[in-house]
Amino acid sequence: MKLVLASNNAGKLREIREIMAGSGIEVLSQREAGCDFSAEETGTTFTENARIKALAAMRATGLPAAADDSGLEVNAMDGGPGIYSSRFCGERSYAEACRDIIGRVAGHSDRGARYCCAVVCCFPDGREIRCFATTEGEISRELRGSGGFGYDPMFLLPDGRTMAELTEDEKNAVSHRGRAFRELLRKLKDGEYYVNQ
Ligand code: IMP
Repeated sequence: MKLVLASNNAGKLREIREIMAGSGIEVLSQREAGCDFSAEETGTTFTENARIKALAAMRATGLPAAADDSGLEVNAMDGGPGIYSSRFCGERSYAEACRDIIGRVAGHSDRGARYCCAVVCCFPDGREIRCFATTEGEISRELRGSGGFGYDPMFLLPDGRTMAELTEDEKNAVSHRGRAFRELLRKLKDGEYYVNQ
């Protein structure tokens, strides 16, 4: 089966290809599937935004298509920046955006945070698969590590390392995105679909 990943992000593509390896599922980027556009994320939840991107790619290619939407929820920011994680950073560097968040969390006793990832897979016959996964952590007091991307240097895991201090394989094993895509593979294998009425 061919599956379009509604993204041209090389890192995401490599990660999901690794997860799908040996499953008989061939993962194509949007570009490889002959459609190159980005759908506007107008949803109010991670799942709605993932579904918008997956539906657009499925309709444009006529192939089953999967998309993810992810972000960081910080307890001391009432769950923000959440679906606005990329927009919260805006034109700033991620180091600046991280320091901004560390400042907002300072003085709060609850430093808890989580990465969230929704994955939606849409099929041309109307079936869908929906997956959601989180990785729990805390906002660190300083930035550490050079791996990963985005908010990883301030995302402290229970073992005391930040997400940016993990190797790529270690991050894939515990990350919200790795978990959500592994759930997708399991549901694809088990035929666990959601049928829209
Ligand atoms: P999207 O899912 O590609 O729309 O990305 C959402 C945004 O959430 C990213 O631009 C980052 O700001 C943040 N984000 C999502 N996943 C991660 C991660 O694994 N590490 C760091 N930041 C992340």
